[in-house]
Parts: sequence; structure tokens; C-alpha cells
Amino acid sequence: MTTPEQSVRDEEQDTTDDHPEESALETARRQLYSAAEQLDVDPNIVERLKHPKQVHEVTVPIRRDDGTVEVYTGYRAQHDSVRGPHKGGLRYHPDVTRDECIGLGMWMTWKCAVMDLPFGGAKGGIAVNPKDLSEGEKERLTRRFAEELRDVIGPNRDIPAPDMGTDPQTMSWLMDAYSMQEGETTPGVVTGKPPIVGGSEGRDEAPGRSVAIIAREAATYYEKDLENTTVAIQGFGSVGSNAARLLDSWGAKVVAVSDVNGGIYDGNGLDTHSIPSHHEQPEGVMGHDAEAKVSNDELLELDVDILIPAAIGNVLTEENAGDVQADIVIEGANGPTTTAASEILADRDIPVVPDILANAGGVTVSYFEWLQDINRRAWSLERVNAELEEEMLSAWEAVREEHDARGVSWRDAAYIVALSRVADAHESRGLWP
Ligand code: NAD
Repeated sequence: MTTPEQSVRDEEQDTTDDHPEESALETARRQLYSAAEQLDVDPNIVERLKHPKQVHEVTVPIRRDDGTVEVYTGYRAQHDSVRGPHKGGLRYHPDVTRDECIGLGMWMTWKCAVMDLPFGGAKGGIAVNPKDLSEGEKERLTRRFAEELRDVIGPNRDIPAPDMGTDPQTMSWLMDAYSMQEGETTPGVVTGKPPIVGGSEGRDEAPGRSVAIIAREAATYYEKDLENTTVAIQGFGSVGSNAARLLDSWGAKVVAVSDVNGGIYDGNGLDTHSIPSHHEQPEGVMGHDAEAKVSNDELLELDVDILIPAAIGNVLTEENAGDVQADIVIEGANGPTTTAASEILADRDIPVVPDILANAGGVTVSYFEWLQDINRRAWSLERVNAELEEEMLSAWEAVREEHDARGVSWRDAAYIVALSRVADAHESRGLWP
């Protein structure tokens, strides 16, 4: 379960918050079987995809500030690389386990495939609470972890990114440690770096931008004119505020937004640009003048055209799914809808466009960052946004086709698109030797 404290700038984050009753690995396998059932996939390929290609477990010793030595356990699970190098976040969190990394790595395979990025999935991390470490300890931990993983990561092998408890600074240290040992500056070994060392313009905004693009396309699909579309957004952080402001500037009426303390409402539409985002002023939403206040629970049940949960996981549950009055749900956060809620919403004919597609702008701009790094040429913000728009539209179109052709949910359609791409690549390459 993601807490606000754990919340991260993470373009490659998992979606496991969705099913607290299952482990990440069980959920990932369940999604694999469910998509495979709808497709004519060779069972031998499904068998291969059930398992990670490799899992690396390393010990990471560091000297603490008090002079003692502490040893942590780190992992990197590489799921599948049939379509290209592995890609996925590195998290610093006490609950990191081998199986969690395998499950989340599998997810990254689907997320990259639904976006048609030339990457396979991976996930890793260290079982540690980063809040217990000083800045210097975090740096030493990261540098040692980079060294332990050096043989298995690299711009053509496996490209980590920030996740829970890690950030652009962590990526900068990792890139430096790797580069120092390799003897050459290698920015493409990680994404999510600060732009000064090869990070991309537009990356921070990208997940929110992709959520807005997908919300706009879904509105059109359901024959809603964006000018008359009302939107409620839970969470006014990186994802929520960027999505809100873009939809607002495209003419939609954002009637409610919230942060951890609650939300504000204006039936005529809020001026989202004047409401401070989490980054600009944490917990500043409630201090903004508005027609009315709403609780986070009430926000989820507002009668709007589009509801975007963009804060934390598991907010649409068995308890409240029956009271959701929105016409469309776009998942901005990772795993905001539990399995039980998904079933209730499906029974009530309320479409839910999944996180794996809607917030994939982050990993997509990570791909752009990698391209910029290996070509040693930075792109303008305009180019990043134009190419992101193109990638999102093409992923939306692929998912829409499956949704329409098979009459399945948007979530199933997204997994079908992903699995068919991965399975076709396996089919084409065959099994070596
Ligand atoms: P953030 O930390 O920038 O902002 C989170 C916002 O949610 C804040 O406004 C906070 O006050 C609010 N919030 C926290 N707890 C809440 C609660 N219980 N109820 C209502 N609001 C609450 O986080 P973010 O980066 O925008 O991420 C939001 C979600 O999107 C998370 O699920 C994250 O995993 C997912 N996500 C983020 C990115 C990214 O790159 N930022 C990418 C993909 C997915």
C-alpha cells in the first residue's frame, strides 16, 4: 500500500497496490494467464513468461556515520528481454523482497510492451528504510549497490530508474559509480536523472501529461465534448496537478481536486493553475478559495464525467465502487482500483482505463531519455511532448482496437496488447539454442 511518505517521483512504478490480498508475483501471473486465455498463445511461451530470466541477489555493506558497518540485501529481477534491454525502477523500502521484484519486473514487461517500447521488464531494490539513512549513507549505499550490479546493468542490458524511496539524485550517484568503474561516462545506464547529467526535459510532467491525453481520448471515445466534460481528480501531486492543468487548459471543467487533507469543489470549474501543487506547496489545496470543500471519500463519489484517482492505491474498493457516479474512471495512480471494485464498476458499465496505459508517460519519456543519452543529443521540451503525444495515441489506438474487437474491459485489452507483442517476439526469435 503506498503511503504519502512512500510516494515517489517514479515513472516506472508498479501496480501491485491493486491487490493487497495477493503478492506482486501472484498478481502478475494472474494477469498473464487472464490475457493468455483470450489469445492463441503457445503455452510454452506462457510457461517461459511465468518465470524471470534472472534474479540477482546481492549484499550491500556500508559504513554508517557512527563507524559501524551495516549489511543490506539488494535485488535486481530481470523478467524478459525479448524486445530489448530490461527497464524498471529501483526502490529503497523495508518491504522489498525477491518475489516482489520478480512480480514488479513482470509488470514492467507489460507496461513497456503496451507502449511498444523496445524494452523488457525488470525491478530491483534494497530492503532498507531510506529515512533511517543520512544523505551520505544513502550515497554510499547507492554506489556500492551500483558496483554489485555492475555486470548485469548497462545501457544495452538493464536500465534502472527511480522508484519508491529513490529519486533523480540516487540515479545520478548510480550513473557516476557505474561510469567511474567502466572508465567512461555512461548516462544511458539509468533514466530519471537530473537534466544536467543527461535527464530529459518534460520527464517530471510526463505521467500527468499521459493521464490527460488518455482522459481526452476516452472522452472523445464516449462522445463527450471536452469543453463540457467535468473532471474530479484525487491527489494534486506530480500526476494529479499536471493532468488537471492540462485538461483545464484544453477546455475541460476540473470541478474538484484534493490532497491528503481533503478537496475543494467548484461546479463552474476551478482555476487549477492557481491551486498549489504538492511540489509547489505541500498540502496547499485546502487553503485555496473555492465554492465548497469535499472530503476525499466524497470526491470519489461526485457526479462527474471523468474521475481520476491520482494519489494512492486501493481507493476504489468494494465499499465505495457502488457509489461511484462518474461516467469514466482513468487510473492516474498505480492500482487505485481493487479487483473487487473493478468487478463492481464493470457490472455498472463504468469503464476503467488502466494505470498501465494511462500513466505510462513516465516510462515513455524514460525511453526518450535513453535515446537522447545514447545519441548524445538532447531534445527540446516541444519535441518530447510531441513524441509523447504520438506514442500515447498509438498505444491508445492499439488498446481501443482490442477493446472494441473483443468486447473486453480496457484493462484486459491493455494486457492483451502487451502479451501479444511479447509472445509474437518470442515466437519470431524462437528458443535458443
Ligand atoms: P506526489 O507525492 O507528487 O503527490 C501525491 C498527492 O496525493 C499529494 O497531493 C498528496 O497530498 C495526495 N495524497 C496523499 N495521500 C492521499 C490520500 N490518502 N488521499 C488523497 N490524497 C492523498 O505523488 P505522484 O508522483 O503524483 O504519484 C501519485 C500516484 O501516481 C502514485 O500512485 C504513484 O505511484 C503514481 N505514479 C507516479 C508517477 C510519477 O512519475 N510521479 C508515475 C506513475 C505513477
